[in-house]
Amino acid sequence: MESTVDLHLHTTMSDGRLSPTELVTLCAERGLRQIAITDHDSLEGLPEAQEVARELGIDVIAGVELGADDKGGEVHLLGYFADASDPELSSTLADFRDGRTTRGRRIVERLAELDVHVSWDRVLELSDGGAVGRPHIAQAMVEKGYVQYPKEAFDQYLGRSGPAYIGRSRLTPAEGVAALVKNGAVPVMAHPTYYMSGEGPDEVARLTETLADLQQVGLAGMEVHYGDYTTRQVEMLASVARELGLIQCGGSDYHASGNPDETEPGTVGPPPEVIGALQDVRGRLTGQSEA
Ligand code: AMP
Ligand code: ZN
Ligand code: FE
Ligand code: FE
Repeated sequence: MESTVDLHLHTTMSDGRLSPTELVTLCAERGLRQIAITDHDSLEGLPEAQEVARELGIDVIAGVELGADDKGGEVHLLGYFADASDPELSSTLADFRDGRTTRGRRIVERLAELDVHVSWDRVLELSDGGAVGRPHIAQAMVEKGYVQYPKEAFDQYLGRSGPAYIGRSRLTPAEGVAALVKNGAVPVMAHPTYYMSGEGPDEVARLTETLADLQQVGLAGMEVHYGDYTTRQVEMLASVARELGLIQCGGSDYHASGNPDETEPGTVGPPPEVIGALQDVRGRLTGQSEA
């Protein structure tokens, strides 16, 4: 399905490989009309993205992606219509970016102990002043010939159960939702299957319970259309979203990652109506109803 909307995209301000200008230009060329830039722990790409978008006549929604953890697993939260002028959120995000740098350096040290030698300076160069992520380390490993694709670096070393995995301090999912709500950003759970180990009825029930708990603190939507989700996965998640009354969001999570078969911007949806639904929530959060 080609769509004119994509609400999950990364740039060089985090671990994407296209600059905000390059990404917005690509999206416009692909016929997208409304996109959200959702860098990890950063709103820094938005001024540039919005300026280019104005020239090209498309809309860029200010988004951000936060990582959170609880006993049950990992939850990524997207926040839409974020207020980048809010000093509290800006300082929280800057702290997270510092934590990423410290942790990235430790991962590089751990890799050296495993006889995988990448230079920390090269990782910093690849991150180019943006939020450092494991994909930058994976890219440095590709350059040195340790793996062919970044994905293999995750499979063999950097993934959650890999020998060079190091976590970082994160918010709980409820704290993440609260931080977004406080800013006036509309909280949405990204790729909900990350939180699941399997897709049987017990895991669907566990996800539903977590979503319902987060809804109590302000979660407004969840991704249903995502990256390489199968029709079956989309149907499973749509049914959970309907049951709870959550907005059915989505996007490609495009990074220009260099992995084969990456989902391109605009190939998965969501339908354009979700923007109005997100705007209504934004109006309620900030006390300005859309009338
Ligand atoms: P980090 O933010 O440093 O924890 O790294 C997480 C990022 O790594 C995600 O946003 C993806 O861009 C990428 N990533 C996570 N898992 C994989 C994987 N298995 N293969 C390739 N990239 C991955
Ligand atoms: Zn990423
Ligand atoms: Fe994510
Ligand atoms: Fe993402």
